[in-house]
Amino acid sequence: MMRSLILLGATGSIGRQVLEILDAHPEAFRVVALTAHEKVDELSLLIDKYRPEFAAIGSEEQAAVLKNRHPEIAVGYGETGLIEAATWRREDRSTLLVNALVGSCGLAPTYHAVDLGRPVALANKETLVIGGDLIMDLARERHVQILPIDSEHSAIWQCLQGNDKAAVRRMIITASGGAFRDKSRDELATVDADQALQHPNWSMGAKITIDSATMMNKGFEVIEAHHLFGIPADKIDTVLHPESYVHSLVEYTDGSILAQISDHDMRLPIAYALFGGSRHPNPTRFLSLESVGKLTFSRLDPDRYPMLGMAYEALNRGGIHPCVLNAANEAAVRLFLRRSIPFLEIENIVRRDLDHAPSCLHPTLDDLLKVDREVQTAVLRQYLK
Ligand code: NAD
Ligand code: MG
Repeated sequence: MMRSLILLGATGSIGRQVLEILDAHPEAFRVVALTAHEKVDELSLLIDKYRPEFAAIGSEEQAAVLKNRHPEIAVGYGETGLIEAATWRREDRSTLLVNALVGSCGLAPTYHAVDLGRPVALANKETLVIGGDLIMDLARERHVQILPIDSEHSAIWQCLQGNDKAAVRRMIITASGGAFRDKSRDELATVDADQALQHPNWSMGAKITIDSATMMNKGFEVIEAHHLFGIPADKIDTVLHPESYVHSLVEYTDGSILAQISDHDMRLPIAYALFGGSRHPNPTRFLSLESVGKLTFSRLDPDRYPMLGMAYEALNRGGIHPCVLNAANEAAVRLFLRRSIPFLEIENIVRRDLDHAPSCLHPTLDDLLKVDREVQTAVLRQYLK
């Protein structure tokens, strides 16, 4: 049976690869809503190709352009446009939401889709970093599955299949090391955005590429794993694995370690999530172990990567702290990409904001959105005078 699907962030790195999987399985999914932020022409082409009933874009002016070109569909814009998309045809609970947005704008649409009882294939890791407790509690209440797209969580999910969760001793998340894995702390003082955007192993959106260079991305993945798999922070470890073929591992109490190994290609975890955790052919390249030859693992030095430690700290402190961690980082990365601050200032900003986090033990959606906005605005204001 054909399944209805909503794709948020259709023009991004993940969004485009989601569409490749849909193209490879035209019998499986029907696109009912699509969104993009700025690329109105690209979105327009996607509307011609996939014929959704609804589309949303960043601004009101661009929405007018879209409406003019596509009078046959409904059009929205801005934050409300994302929520309209996520809740499109609200009576149909089986519609799959694929969230490929970047940043905190992904939280509210996920929340509203889960509230309707819809399953969510989640690439937007900021959703669970900011609002993991809120989203997972709601998902349990509504009997909704959150299907991870991030390759590390897909790997863990695959290593858990058919095994007793009570027998898990540890989850081990692998890290490529990002663009600066061979640089010392001293050398990091002078690196710029162009260098940081050169990921050694693959190409992704700008924000996650910077998050990989600071290791914040790995910290986010620890927080995501905690929420997705209900595992305490002290049972989640990270390891440096520069080849990036082992996507993550699960260690069991009998001493077995299960790993998921494949080429670095997001289309594999995307397809696994879209099909609800079952295996289907997809355009991913097959991996030749002989050509890989060697796999290496080493310790991630906490002094070299302080942002990983900040993520554990925010997770352990709980409440509003992970939201503050994310917001400060999001604004700092934006400043770094605009060449307004040096690389190491990203971690200084996050450290400072974590130290001054407001107190809020059980934040609601409104609390999270408010603190996110306040922290981001304050950071941007301080540096963009
Ligand atoms: P990207 O920058 O390539 O794409 C982001 C998409 O979100 C675009 O379609 C853009 O139009 C939209 N968008 C951005 N800001 C928006 C806003 N304010 N309002 C509405 N739409 C907005 O990012 P990406 O690399 O595809 O990453 C998407 C998410 O997936 C991120 O959370 C990232 O951490 C996660 N992720 C990405 C990869 C990867 O390989 N790219 C791997 C794992 C996880
Ligand atoms: Mg990842």
